[in-house]
Amino acid sequence: MDKSVYDTIIIGSGISGMAAGIILAKQGERTLVLEQHSSAGGMTQTFSRKGKIFPTGVHRLGSLNPGQPLWYYFRYLDIMDKLDLVKLSRDCFEKIYFPGKNYKIPTGHDNFRHRLIKYFPDQEKSITRYFFDLKHVISNIGMYNPSIIPEKDLSLQYTGPLEDYLKSIGVSGRLKSLLISNSPLYGVSSKECPLLTHFIVTDSYLNSSFRINELNTPFSDTLAKSFKSKGGKIYLNSHVKKLIINNKTVTGVILKNNEKLFSKKVVFSGHPSLILDICPPEHFRPVFRNRLNQGNSPGIFGVALKWKKNTCPLEKNDVYIYDSWDVNYQYVRGSILMGDPLGMVYLSALPDKDKSDKNFAVTALTGISNKETSVLKKYYKESKNDKYKTAKNKITQKILNHIKQVYPDLFENIEVADTYSPMTFQRYTLTKNGSAYGIQKTAQRFLEGMFHPATKIKNLFLTGQSIGFNGIHGAIVSSVNLCQLLYGKEYLTNKIVNKQN
Ligand SMILES: Cc1cc2nc3c(=O)[nH]c(=O)nc-3n(C[C@H](O)[C@H](O)[C@H](O)COP(=O)(O)OP(=O)(O)OC[C@H]3O[C@@H](n4cnc5c(N)ncnc54)[C@H](O)[C@@H]3O)c2cc1C
Repeated sequence: MDKSVYDTIIIGSGISGMAAGIILAKQGERTLVLEQHSSAGGMTQTFSRKGKIFPTGVHRLGSLNPGQPLWYYFRYLDIMDKLDLVKLSRDCFEKIYFPGKNYKIPTGHDNFRHRLIKYFPDQEKSITRYFFDLKHVISNIGMYNPSIIPEKDLSLQYTGPLEDYLKSIGVSGRLKSLLISNSPLYGVSSKECPLLTHFIVTDSYLNSSFRINELNTPFSDTLAKSFKSKGGKIYLNSHVKKLIINNKTVTGVILKNNEKLFSKKVVFSGHPSLILDICPPEHFRPVFRNRLNQGNSPGIFGVALKWKKNTCPLEKNDVYIYDSWDVNYQYVRGSILMGDPLGMVYLSALPDKDKSDKNFAVTALTGISNKETSVLKKYYKESKNDKYKTAKNKITQKILNHIKQVYPDLFENIEVADTYSPMTFQRYTLTKNGSAYGIQKTAQRFLEGMFHPATKIKNLFLTGQSIGFNGIHGAIVSSVNLCQLLYGKEYLTNKIVNKQN
C-alpha cells in the first residue's frame, strides 16, 4: 500500500463515502477510500442468485429528470449519463393494496392531486391544502434541491409530527392511510415522522421515479469508476480499527492488519456510533456519545424472488401490500416470530436483460423491529444453522403468504432465490443492529438525530445517512454538506448547479 500522506482518507465505500470521495477528488485532493468488506459499495451493492441480479439498498431513485433535485447531484458526481435508468410508469409508479381496495399513484403533483380528489371527493379541501403545503415547504428548504436557495430556510419549522399535521388539515380515515402508505421508505410511523421527512420523500418520487438497470450499469461500479477516473483509490478488505490521533487531531488510521495510513483529514461514513469503537470515547462529551447511541430505525427482512418466465405480475411500479388500513401497525406490532401479522410487504422488481415487464427479479421487503432483530441475533449466536435458519424460514413463509393475498398463484410461479435479515446488513456494512436507515430522526427528537459533519477531533469528519436524511439522496446531501464546510457553500453549490468541475 501507498505510504505517502493522503489529503483525505474516507472510511466506507457506500454512497456517502463515494460521493465525498468524488467531490474531494474533483477539487484535486489525493483521496483514498477504505472499505472493510471485500467489495465496494456498502448498500449500493447487488447480489446475483439463480441467474438474476438483486439490489440490496437501492430499489428506486426519485427526481432524476433534468433540473430535478437528485439530477443535479448525480450530474456533478459524473454518473448521470453513465447510468442506464428505467423510468417507472407515469400512470402508476406505486400501487398500494389495502383490504378490498387498491390505489394507483401517478407521477406528478397535479396528477396525484387530481387522482386523490377522484378517490376521496369529500376531502378535496384537505387534499388541496396538503399539496399547497408540500410545495411551500419544498421550495423553502435548502440542500434537498441545490438549485433552490431560499431567502429563509424553513426546514426547522416543519419537523413536527406528520400525524398532527394531517389532523390539522382534516385528513383522516382511508385518505390518511393512503398518504402515509410510503412510510416504509423512511421507516417511522406517522406519529413520530417529522413532516419534513415525509414531504421530502413524497416530493422526490412524485417528481419522477427510476430504477437503475443494474445488469447494464451496476451502481456501485459506476460510482467507483467515476472516483477512480479522478485519481481516487479504493482499498478493499481494509477494516479501520483505530484512528491515529495526536493532540486532538487525527493524522491517519490503523487497519485491522496493523497497517498505518496517514492523511491530513479523515472522513467516517459508517454508522456514526462506530466511531466510538475506533477512537477513544473520552474525546467526545457524554451528551454526544448518547446521541450517537440513540435509537436506530428498524431493520429490513428481504426475500429475493425469481418469477417463472413471463409470469411476473409486477409492472414498472413498486407495490405495497397492507393487510389492514392501519399503516402504523407495522411499527408497533408485538413480534412476527410469535405469530403477529406482518402488516406490510413492499415489492420491487428489477428489469431483466430485455427490460420486458414480465421477467423481473423481485425483492419482497418487510420491516423488522429492533426487538425482533435482538431475537434473531440471539438465535444466530446460539445456533446459526438451526434456530436462526428456522426463524428466517418462518418469516419468509409469512412474507409469501402475505403476498399471496394479492397474487393467488404466487407459489406456482416463484422460486425463493435468497433471503436476508438485518443481521445480513450488519455483517456487510457493520451498521448498528442492521438498521436500514441508521439513527432515527423523530419529530420528538429531531435535532438530536441530526449531526454536524465536523467533530471535536480536529480534521475528523462525519458523513452518511445517519448524519442527515436517509436514502441515496439524503446520504449524498450529507457529503455535499461536509464538502461545503471544507470548500465553502457558495463555491460548491455553484459548481453543482452550474456543472463546473
Ligand atoms: C433494504 C433497503 C432498501 C433501501 N432502498 C432504498 C431505495 O430504494 N432508495 C434509496 O434512496 N434508499 C434506499 N435505502 C437506503 C439507502 O440504501 C441508504 O440510505 C444508503 O445507501 C446509506 O449509505 P451510507 O453511505 O450512509 O452507508 P453504507 O452504504 O452503509 O456505507 C457505509 C460503509 O462503511 C463501511 N465501514 C463501516 N465501518 C468501517 C470501518 N471501520 N472500516 C472500513 N469500512 C467501514 C461499511 O462496510 C459500508 O460499506 C434502502 C436501505 C435498505 C436497507
